[in-house]
Amino acid sequence: TTLSPDDSIKKQKHESNQSIDIPIENCLMWFRTDLRIQDNIALHKASTIIFTKSEKSNYVFAIYLISPEEWRSHDVAPTRVDFWLRNLKELKKSLNELNIPLIIENVDNASDVPSVMIDWCKRLRISHLFANIEYEVDEMKRDKQVFDSATSNSIKVEMLHSQCIVKPGLLKTKEGKPYRVYTPFKNSWFRHVESDLSILESSPIPFPNSVSIRNSYLETFSFKVPSSIPGFEISSELAKITRFNFPAGEQYCHSLLSKFLLQKVSKYSDARDILSQNGTSSLSPYLASGIISARQCVYKAFISNNNKLSTGKNGIVKWIKEIIWREFYRQILVAFPHVCKNMPFKKHMKNIEWNNDEENFRRWCQGKTGYPIVDAGMRQLNGMCWMHNRARMIVAMKGERYFMSHLIDGDFANNNGGWQWCASTGSDAQPYFRIFNPTTQSEKFDPTGEYIRKWVPELKHLDSKQIHNPFGVLNESEFKKLGYPKPIVDHQKARVVALERFKKVK
Ligand code: FAD
Repeated sequence: TTLSPDDSIKKQKHESNQSIDIPIENCLMWFRTDLRIQDNIALHKASTIIFTKSEKSNYVFAIYLISPEEWRSHDVAPTRVDFWLRNLKELKKSLNELNIPLIIENVDNASDVPSVMIDWCKRLRISHLFANIEYEVDEMKRDKQVFDSATSNSIKVEMLHSQCIVKPGLLKTKEGKPYRVYTPFKNSWFRHVESDLSILESSPIPFPNSVSIRNSYLETFSFKVPSSIPGFEISSELAKITRFNFPAGEQYCHSLLSKFLLQKVSKYSDARDILSQNGTSSLSPYLASGIISARQCVYKAFISNNNKLSTGKNGIVKWIKEIIWREFYRQILVAFPHVCKNMPFKKHMKNIEWNNDEENFRRWCQGKTGYPIVDAGMRQLNGMCWMHNRARMIVAMKGERYFMSHLIDGDFANNNGGWQWCASTGSDAQPYFRIFNPTTQSEKFDPTGEYIRKWVPELKHLDSKQIHNPFGVLNESEFKKLGYPKPIVDHQKARVVALERFKKVK
């Protein structure tokens, strides 16, 4: 069963053609992957213009574009679209409290984004357009087109840095080059932020529009957030699971962060690698969609660490370092944009001869490889649209698009960075000769087999010795009874082949 798509978008398009009486000189905030009110630099900036003498503006309007063609071309997972819509509903409520009308517009063709934006700018008499920068190549290209159209219509545009704590590209090596390796980047990041802790301060809550707009415009713009988008529907079963695991809204997200810092972070350094433990923050979907900013996360961690950043409590420092990985992969996107175009970071690696066995790939997607730990990870991905970081590392070698089209926290920089790390083709990647052995990884990070038992129920009655490699330890008839597949490859042999192929392009 699927949630029925509603036709509210079409209806809205019709309604939005009404002419409206609006004073000139307004601001428009274009929301994308920054669906929050707090610490939203572009939104705050848009709201302050109202009060400056030199650049006068009357009202702030907000807009969100529903752009299925663009989403499809970027492999956006249906569950992520569902997550966006749920968060958009919460955002709309918060904007209402600030008397800011939210326009929701459907864009059929990705190439229409500039004209749709300019149309709305004209209708709303916009003098200033604001947005937070998205760093992926296609998004930058789209924004440049909007920027050019706006400028030629005498609309000022401001694109702001709100996705990272330290602006990508700001930190450079001694030779003035972008960092390619994480550790020196992280050290430089700590030095930079510790030299000016005001970098961690959130941008203030936006100023509200005057109440008078509430009655007139909020009624005119009665845009409903659709409950689903055709082509991105999810089953009611999956909706139930993801809505339970990842509820929407800034308020929920901040309570999740506080709970994590209070109850879990002290054990984070060890617990983060144990697959059956819920030892990480689960904040990735919220960070990927901008429901919370990285700065808000690190600032709260800094306070919990008695105003320390790179020193102090182990768990907190380790966690901040993970957020720095996020910053690292974003600066990689900006400095080496070829990674957005299906290219390995290390360009010579494009000559690697990959194994393109369709049947094996299908079985990997389904979690039927015959390697319990790999299958548990893939079934977790398919079952809840999220996967434990250690499991992502174990299952990954070649399947970036499959991840992106299923993850609720799908995030180009982190996903591409993570995949290239695992495949040894990336910046600061795992050396090609360190190939994870799924059985030993399983014994180390799921020692009791609890994670496998949860996601691969066919194996739940096996003991903690048998469960990691049932094909290797059970006799033929015992194995047959499990109804579980034989391994799709012999890991030892596959390892040798992979090493030879890497050596060829070294
Ligand atoms: P925590 O351990 O609580 O970490 C806090 C935050 O730090 C995370 O929410 C995330 O924003 C950031 N972070 C943590 N680990 C990493 C990392 N290795 N690289 C970059 N940022 C990190 N993360 C995504 O957000 N989206 C993806 O699409 C994604 N794809 C990945 C694919 C592969 C192959 C690998 C190996 C990793 C991928 N990651 C991705 C990184 C990581 O697995 C997730 O961020 C993490 O599992 C999310 O869980 P958490 O929020 O509980 O993390």
